[in-house]
Amino acid sequence: MSHKPDNLTRHKAQVIIVGAGLTGLTLAYYLRKSGLKVLVFEKQERAGGVIRTLRENGFVYETGPNTGILGNPQVIQLFSDLWPDCTLEIADEKAKKRLIWKDGRWHCLPSGLLEAVRTPLFTFGDKFRILGEPLRRKGQDPMESLSGLVKRRMGKSFLEYAVDPFISGIYAGDPDRLITRFALPKLYKLEQTYGSFIGGALKKKILEKEQTPAREVFSVAGGLENLVLALEKSIGQEHIICGATQTSVETLGREGYRIYATVNGSDHMAEAPVLISTIGSYALPDLFPSIPREEFNAIASLEYARVVQVVLGFRHWTGANIKAFGGLVPSREQRHILGVLFPSSFLSDRAPEGGALLNVFLGGMRHPEYYDLGDDQILEMVKVEVMDMMRMPDYDPELEKVFRYRHAIPQYMADSESRIKAIGRLQENYPGLILAGNIHEGIGMADRVAQAVRIAEAVVDSQ
Ligand SMILES: Cc1cc2nc3c(=O)[nH]c(=O)nc-3n(C[C@H](O)[C@H](O)[C@H](O)COP(=O)(O)OP(=O)(O)OC[C@H]3O[C@@H](n4cnc5c(N)ncnc54)[C@H](O)[C@@H]3O)c2cc1C
Repeated sequence: MSHKPDNLTRHKAQVIIVGAGLTGLTLAYYLRKSGLKVLVFEKQERAGGVIRTLRENGFVYETGPNTGILGNPQVIQLFSDLWPDCTLEIADEKAKKRLIWKDGRWHCLPSGLLEAVRTPLFTFGDKFRILGEPLRRKGQDPMESLSGLVKRRMGKSFLEYAVDPFISGIYAGDPDRLITRFALPKLYKLEQTYGSFIGGALKKKILEKEQTPAREVFSVAGGLENLVLALEKSIGQEHIICGATQTSVETLGREGYRIYATVNGSDHMAEAPVLISTIGSYALPDLFPSIPREEFNAIASLEYARVVQVVLGFRHWTGANIKAFGGLVPSREQRHILGVLFPSSFLSDRAPEGGALLNVFLGGMRHPEYYDLGDDQILEMVKVEVMDMMRMPDYDPELEKVFRYRHAIPQYMADSESRIKAIGRLQENYPGLILAGNIHEGIGMADRVAQAVRIAEAVVDSQ
């Protein structure tokens, strides 16, 4: 692409960020807070990336993520820093049950050892196996799949009726293909450090009682979009350029980086010694035309789960009791949905009084073809499943919305090690270039915040 010098708006910054999703915005927020001049380029007309809250006829619903886990101090700190512009909402304790579908009905996922022993979800043999878990030898294979690890320590039924649905809920993924060390590093470390999940979790709880934040489920009062708006407000609109198309980055050697973009028909150019990308792996080679494409091969090959999300709003709920967080469906049960969340049960003001808001997920790594189905087919499939699974006598949703994500969740599979090495090599070969985002270091919102804080601190220290 060519940019005529007379039609070019020039910007200078200390740090350029590409992508204004949660990673990019959190980075910009902390870098600005440290006094650095930051400029964010975002392709879409709005900031927030996959986070978006919509409002219609008394329903407040999320497209993309619904909730996160307050699992690290950085995310707690972010909310504290943004208060009162954005208020953390913790999911209602009274609706924290997770349901698992088995043999034609929902069962509560056990939350303790005693419940695990009583539940019909696991076989008699595996319950004994679970009791013996602390005594089992620790694994030796750092590339062991999640299903391999779970079968070895807990048994097949635990894999099928606890881990498989849990992985559908987080990764929309397949535990046979995810590598524990990369996909669930905390679980991997638990076994490697303590030799056992159960024993390790107990010891960790005792040892870290004071330091570890409670792993509560969070959203934001009024919707997750309010987190985006609070970040935007603090960063300053003038530091975020939305609607930036045809972005391309040129490497300038010691001088850093130059980015070109077209915004509303006019050309923009910015230079900075540091450039941070937060975009998906598949889009990286085109963003950096001056870097040989082969250098991105091991990164761009990252696979993503395709997810279809259906939001349903019922003015009068007539189905089964949904005072729970949601329900997950094991792949073995061969239903058409991965799971369903009940946001109006655990968050306030998401549906009119007496009504209900449901967020249904389909597709994922096991059914990528659902992504290509028409809305009518998707909605019919969801209707059949929801009526049956929620025991609904009649079905009259006032709100029916379909959202598709081609690159919803990256899958940390066997190629993760080579991808992480390639990211390291690129960052070493091109000083000042940082590859952030969910291509590494976690897929959840809390992971995104933790990574952004880590990088912002490193950038500030290097100034
Ligand atoms: C359907 C769905 C459900 C989810 N559910 C949960 C959940 O329940 N809990 C949880 O913790 N997490 C969940 N996640 C994951 C979580 O939402 C993401 O990890 C997080 O929001 C990603 O933030 P990000 O900034 O890294 O990426 P993104 O939000 O993808 O932001 C990247 C930004 O880069 C922009 N961009 C791309 N290319 C360019 C370019 N060339 N130039 C300029 N800009 C560009 C994009 O437009 C986008 O705005 C879910 C994700 C999806 C899709």
